Amino acid sequence: STMRKDRIEKTKTVCTYCGVGCSFEVWTRDREILKVQPDPDAPVNGISTCVKGKFGWDFVNSEERLTKPLIRKGDSFQESTWEEALSLIASKFKGIQEEHGPNALGFIASSKCSNEDNYLFQKLARSIFKTNNVDNCSRYCQTPASSGLMRTVGIGGDSGTIQDIASADLVIVVGANPAESHPVLSTRVRRAHKLHGQKLIVADLRKNDLADRADLHLHPKPGSDLVWLSAVTKYIFDQGWEDKNFLENRVNFVEKYKASLEKFTLEYAEEKTGLSKETLIRIAEMIHESKGTCILWAMGVTQHMGGTDTSTAISNLLLVTGNYGKTGAGAYPLRGHNNVQGASDMGTMPNWLPGYEPVEDDAVRARYEKAWQTDLPKVPGLNNHQIVDAIQDGNVKGMYLFGEEMALVDSNINFVQESFEKLDFFVVQDIFFSRTAQFADVVLPAAPSLEKDGTFTNTERRIQRFHKVFEPLGDSKSDWEIIRDLANELGADWKYEHPSEIMDEVASLAPAFAGVSYERLEGWNSQIWPVQENGEGTPILYKERFKFPDGKARLFPVDWTEPHHFGAEYDLHLNNGRSLEQFHEGNMTDRSAGIHHMLPGPWLEVSHELAEERGIETGALVRLVSPYGKVKIRVLVTDRVKGKELYLPMNTRDDEEAVNRLTSSYYDKDTHTPNYKEAQVKMQVLERT
Ligand code: SF4
Repeated sequence: STMRKDRIEKTKTVCTYCGVGCSFEVWTRDREILKVQPDPDAPVNGISTCVKGKFGWDFVNSEERLTKPLIRKGDSFQESTWEEALSLIASKFKGIQEEHGPNALGFIASSKCSNEDNYLFQKLARSIFKTNNVDNCSRYCQTPASSGLMRTVGIGGDSGTIQDIASADLVIVVGANPAESHPVLSTRVRRAHKLHGQKLIVADLRKNDLADRADLHLHPKPGSDLVWLSAVTKYIFDQGWEDKNFLENRVNFVEKYKASLEKFTLEYAEEKTGLSKETLIRIAEMIHESKGTCILWAMGVTQHMGGTDTSTAISNLLLVTGNYGKTGAGAYPLRGHNNVQGASDMGTMPNWLPGYEPVEDDAVRARYEKAWQTDLPKVPGLNNHQIVDAIQDGNVKGMYLFGEEMALVDSNINFVQESFEKLDFFVVQDIFFSRTAQFADVVLPAAPSLEKDGTFTNTERRIQRFHKVFEPLGDSKSDWEIIRDLANELGADWKYEHPSEIMDEVASLAPAFAGVSYERLEGWNSQIWPVQENGEGTPILYKERFKFPDGKARLFPVDWTEPHHFGAEYDLHLNNGRSLEQFHEGNMTDRSAGIHHMLPGPWLEVSHELAEERGIETGALVRLVSPYGKVKIRVLVTDRVKGKELYLPMNTRDDEEAVNRLTSSYYDKDTHTPNYKEAQVKMQVLERT
C-alpha cells in the first residue's frame, strides 16, 4: 500500500568496508534495512557494489551492540551513565598525566571512523593532554607506502583516480589482492583488460583472481620485490628507455640514483627473486611499450622489514619512466580500510598535524596554537607499535583507543595482549565488546556510520559525505560527540553540534582542505584533495610540480633488506591476507547474517605438492607453530599456493585461530610497520582428513 511505501526512507551513505569508497542509498523502514541501492551518479562505483557493501549491514541491529558505557568492577563490567564514565576517565587520565607526564598516555585512532572523529581525537591528545602519542592503523598497513611516496614525490596518497587506473595502458599490481580486498576497483581493471586491451602484470605469491587473468603473473621469492623492481629500472636505463625529458626537467638526483642501481643486474635479480631474465626483460618491454603505467600495491609490499624501501623502488620506477602527472599513470597504494587515508590526513599520526604538516614546524604549530588557544607539544610522539613497547616498559600507563581491534590484528598478539594487561587505565570505544575491550577499564558505546553524519576519504583522496540513517542505538553516541564530551569534562569548551563545524575548522587550518565543506559535498558530490579555497580539487597530482620546495621529484636510492627468517626449523612460509566476504577480523561482517552464512570461518591454503608430501587432504586439521605461538586450523588444498608457501586469511574473531598468534614483532626499519608477511611456521598434522 502507499502507506507502507511512504515509510520507506532512502539515505545516501558511503561503504565502510574498503578504501574504494563506493557510495549508495540505503533503503530503510524504521530500523529495518530493506536494501542497498547503488546509483549511476555515485562517483566511484556507479551501479556496482560488492558483497560486503550489499549485504554487510545487519550488524547495526545486532543484539550484541554496546548500548551503555561499561565500567570494570574486578573481573566483570557494570553498566554506567555517561556522566559517571566520562568523569572517571577524566580523573584517571589527568592523574596519569600529572604523575607521569603527558607522554605516559597513548591514543589509538580509527581508520574505520570519520574524518571528523579523527580530527577531534588528535586535537584531544595534543591540545588537552599535550602529547603527540597518537597514531592510527595505517601503521599496520600503508605507512611504508606513504613514506616511500613522500621521499620521492612528496605526497603520501594515490597520485590519480580509479578512473585513471582503468584508462592506463598497463597496470602492474604488486603484493595486493584487489579482487577480494578492493572488489569494485578490481572489476574496473578486469573490464579494461578484457574490453579495452589494457595489459596486466600481477606480482603475488598467490595465484589470486587478478593474477589468474594477468598477461604476466610473477611469483617472486617472498620479500624480493625490491630486487626485480630495481633490476627492471636498471634495464630500462641500460636500454636508454628512460623518459629523458621528464628526468631532465622534473626530477633531482638522477645520476646518483642511476649509479645506485649498479648491483641490480639481471643475473643478481634472477638469483634473488627466482624470476627469469626473460621475464624481467619482458616487464621492462611492457612498460616501455605502454603510453601510461599505473602501479598498484598493498600489504604484500609494505608489511616487510624493507616495506618503505620497496614502496620507494616503485615510485623510482614510475619517475624514471615519466609515469607521473598525467592521465592513466601513477602510484596507487591501495588503502585497506574505508578511511585509512582520511584518518592520516586528519593528523592522527605522531609526527603530522592535519594535512601532513610536521609537528616540529614552529610556524605550523603556531597556527594551531592560535586557533586552539593553547600550547602544543613539539616533539613527535610514539607510534602505536612503540606505544605497545612503552606499555611493556612501564612508560605508557594509560591508553584511549577507538574503533581498532588491536588485540587481534596487531602482529604478535601474544605480546600485545600481555601489554594491555599492564595498563593502569585503558579506555576502549567501539560498537561491539571487542576482543580488545576485554582488557579495558571503561568501554564506551559508539555509533556506526549508519547512525551518524560525517565524511570518509577513499584511496583516491576523494572526500565523500555519509548521512545518518538511524538514531544511535540505546545510549550509544557518535565518536566525535564522545570525544567532545570528554574534552569538555576536562575543562574545554568545545561547542561542536554537528560534524560540519568540525570540517569547517579543518578547512580553516589545513591548507590541503581549504575548500572542503559539507555544502560542496551534498548529494553525490565529492572533493579530491588538495582542495583550493574555491572548491577545486586535484584528481591528478604532480601535473606541474612535485610537492617539494623546488617542485622537482627526488629519485631515492634504496637497497634490499633480506626478509627475516625465524630459523630452519620453521620450514613453511606463511602468507596472510583478506577474504572477499569478511571485513578484517569480522566484528561487523560476521555479525551480518547475509555474510556469515557465506563464509563461516577461516581455512589454511596448502599446495597440492605439500599436501601430498604430508599425506593430507582438504578438511585435515593441522597445528601451525611459530616461535611466538600456535593455531589449530582446517586445510584447503588448492593450486592458488605453491610448494612450501601457505596462506591463512586474517578474518577471524577467534584468537585461537588468528594468524597473528604466529607473526612476530619485527618491523619495517623506516616506519615500524610490522613485517606480517615475513612469517614461517612448522606444521603438525592432527587429523588427516
Ligand atoms: Fe565498494 Fe569496497 Fe564497499 Fe565493496 S567493500 S562495496 S568495493 S567500498
